[in-house]
Amino acid sequence: MSSNEGGPGLAERLALVRQQIGEAASAADRSSDELTLIAITKFHDESLLRELAALGVRDFGESRHQEARDKAANLADLDLTWHFVGQIQSKKARQIAAYSAVIHSLDRASVADLLGTTLSSSPETVLKAAASASDARPPVDVFIQVNLTPDPARGGATPGDLEALAEHVSGLAGLRLRGVMAVAPLGEPARPAFERLRLLSAAVQRIDAGASAISAGMSNDFADAIAEGATHLRIGSAITGFRPVQR
Ligand SMILES: *Cc1c(COP(=O)(O)O)cnc(C)c1O
Repeated sequence: MSSNEGGPGLAERLALVRQQIGEAASAADRSSDELTLIAITKFHDESLLRELAALGVRDFGESRHQEARDKAANLADLDLTWHFVGQIQSKKARQIAAYSAVIHSLDRASVADLLGTTLSSSPETVLKAAASASDARPPVDVFIQVNLTPDPARGGATPGDLEALAEHVSGLAGLRLRGVMAVAPLGEPARPAFERLRLLSAAVQRIDAGASAISAGMSNDFADAIAEGATHLRIGSAITGFRPVQR
């Protein structure tokens, strides 16, 4: 992109990030095979996503519904996997699930209910819901976003609400609980925050053994996240370069 003229190019930045991921994984005695790199491309043009796809990136993350929907439609020829990482408006939830393979930012039961079907409903209700699901689709993988800060304005369920929400989500058909997601708080070291996330992940795994994934780690803190067990890295600017102002 023009804002990165003169610096290393996209291919070099991607290669460097992959190398650093590999180094952080070996330092933590982990294999990079356990790690999924998601390129966060919010506000970038589709041409940049096409370049990344040509460099072998399959997983893309977006945070705005309209932008994500348009990119998924316009880049359908590339057969990419779409991850939604932004705040979810209730009235957009089902639309987001229509193109997203993975939703990282589930933070409340009411949205989970819009995405799934209650297993304890009568068989008739379940059948009716299934039949009326005009967007008949495979189950959506979801992460529950946890707020690691005391500020309720930041996205995510509070740690205190996490276990009840995990239990609720596990009981819904049409959703597959993959694990927990968080953004490191500003103004404190990331590593101890990710350590708290690892403990919260363990609590969720006692509720649903399959929910063992941890979505954590951005451009400035992915090595700390890998050290604390992250499996899904959401890396934007370290790969894409400076992010354009939002459109
Ligand atoms: C933008 C964003 C990222 C990527 O941030 P970078 O600092 O550019 O790597 C990761 N996760 C979420 C939820 C984001 O909104």
